[in-house]
Amino acid sequence: MLAKQIDENNDEAMGYIVGTVEGDGYAGFYGRGNYIIGMKVKDEDFVNTFSKFLVSIGLRPRIYVNDGFYSLTVNSKALHDYIENITRKFVLSRSTTFKKMFLRGLFDSDGWATVLNTDKPRYATRMVGFANNNKPRIDLTAEILSEFGIRFNIKSRIHSGFGSEKIQYELIITGRNNLEKFSKEVGFLMKRKQDKLDDLLQSFRNHIKCKDCKKLVNLLEHQPAIKYCNACSTERQKLCKKEYRQTKKSKKYDKLYARKWKQRNRRKYNEYMKNYHREYRSIKN
Ligand SMILES: [Zn+2]
Repeated sequence: MLAKQIDENNDEAMGYIVGTVEGDGYAGFYGRGNYIIGMKVKDEDFVNTFSKFLVSIGLRPRIYVNDGFYSLTVNSKALHDYIENITRKFVLSRSTTFKKMFLRGLFDSDGWATVLNTDKPRYATRMVGFANNNKPRIDLTAEILSEFGIRFNIKSRIHSGFGSEKIQYELIITGRNNLEKFSKEVGFLMKRKQDKLDDLLQSFRNHIKCKDCKKLVNLLEHQPAIKYCNACSTERQKLCKKEYRQTKKSKKYDKLYARKWKQRNRRKYNEYMKNYHREYRSIKN
């Protein structure tokens, strides 16, 4: 069988494929020309995106559904060998498009967005995370994120499961600026995760608590500087004006202001008074 060529210059597709195989996917050699690349996931749009990119480099993946999981496999020695030879240096030397798509593949696999308690600003949690037990993979992810100017923290903890103990690493992105940058530069292609990220970003500017009635109101309908809801702020303005007009200070100030204006605009004032008397007389006659 003739080994089928793949379009290695398609940076968008190759970046995403490599990132996804490093994440939820796999690539293996199963003897007798069986070079299999595949994945088994729960999100239909994830498997479709992966499939679309495989098709765009000239492959023919097969998808089947079983027990609520979507499985994809494709047989390709060329892609298998390409993935086998991936190194940190190779990824870092690729184009910006490749690196972006590489991160998208990884984050679609092992990343998430969390947004909690946005109605209680002090307890609000907003973060994008990426978990992996492969330190070099975490480091490479960190290096590319840094290139895009996105800051993060890396935590590690012992993760026990399947009868063994492994160190699990978590890369956490927090802060409005960083999260907005992540969404703009990287983001998710998987709809479920990107929707969550959109909610997260939306929540930064969503609500203010009115100082008077303590109601949560949508900030988009207000000027950012206003601390009151529309109803309360209009009421307050009216009240303030009314109160001010009744103070002695306002009456004194108005007289003072009128006198000062008269002095400064003597000619205008005289003309105005002349007109006023003329009109007054004409009405009287
Ligand atoms: Zn109010």
